[in-house]
Amino acid sequence: MRAGCHLSRADGFEKMAQTAVKIGAETFQFFSGNPRGGRSRPWQREDVDAMMSICRENGIGQMVCHAPYILNPASDDPEKRQYAREAMQSDLDRLRQMPGVFYNFHPGCHRGQGNETGMEQVAELLRSLNPGEDTVVLLETMAGKGSELGAAFEELGRILDLAGRPEMGVCLDTCHVWDAGYDIVHSLDRVLEDFDRAVGLSRLRVIHMNDSMSPLGSHRDRHARIGEGMIDREALRRVCDHPLLRDRPMILETPSTLEGYAEEIRWMKGKADECILGL
Ligand SMILES: [Zn+2]
Ligand SMILES: [Zn+2]
Repeated sequence: MRAGCHLSRADGFEKMAQTAVKIGAETFQFFSGNPRGGRSRPWQREDVDAMMSICRENGIGQMVCHAPYILNPASDDPEKRQYAREAMQSDLDRLRQMPGVFYNFHPGCHRGQGNETGMEQVAELLRSLNPGEDTVVLLETMAGKGSELGAAFEELGRILDLAGRPEMGVCLDTCHVWDAGYDIVHSLDRVLEDFDRAVGLSRLRVIHMNDSMSPLGSHRDRHARIGEGMIDREALRRVCDHPLLRDRPMILETPSTLEGYAEEIRWMKGKADECILGL
């Protein structure tokens, strides 16, 4: 299993990779741009190359580039859909500099158009994307806040089928699926069977490892640190160790400091005795 966390690229890609090494991360995730829109630091070729070589030297791999939250591929406004399409294609063009890095995005909110129309629009956008040969595009499982698509596994399976892009996959977020109503605490195996039926486990490429501040089925999407939420550490331990999941990269998106992430990564690796806070 590869354990890691979301990192900031505010100080550049090279710095981000150095941070990953320092906290013992074997993988990590970063935003392609400013998550809520607006300007962000541009990608410099040398900086990207420095990151990739630090990763290679330190056995870090299967990183994830996360699309900005602001993009809504299922918007009722055609201009917003077009904006999402262009932003995603430009991310994918830049990701050609980083072979093997996944590109993960949120399917978006249908904003009253209905799930079916929303899913068709996301599928249409996916059909139009042109990722590099070494980039796999992933849709993330969502909590189902408001008119958010992707809270039901069937919706993700349907979007991928409609898009006709068998090479694209899914990122499963433990907080989001719990908030969406999938009981990974008491019936993880059944949830994975549901996922397999609706999407196919071979399409599951990345796990987001988060506890949740909210109860099962709350549709809230509030992440908690491992052991500080309602999923709790025993259930997340079973996710880490599950034979069908443990070969996927597992990435924390918890409200942690870097020291906190280092500790949660040690816990994910099963080195709880080395944890300072006794996770
Ligand atoms: Zn996400
Ligand atoms: Zn996530």
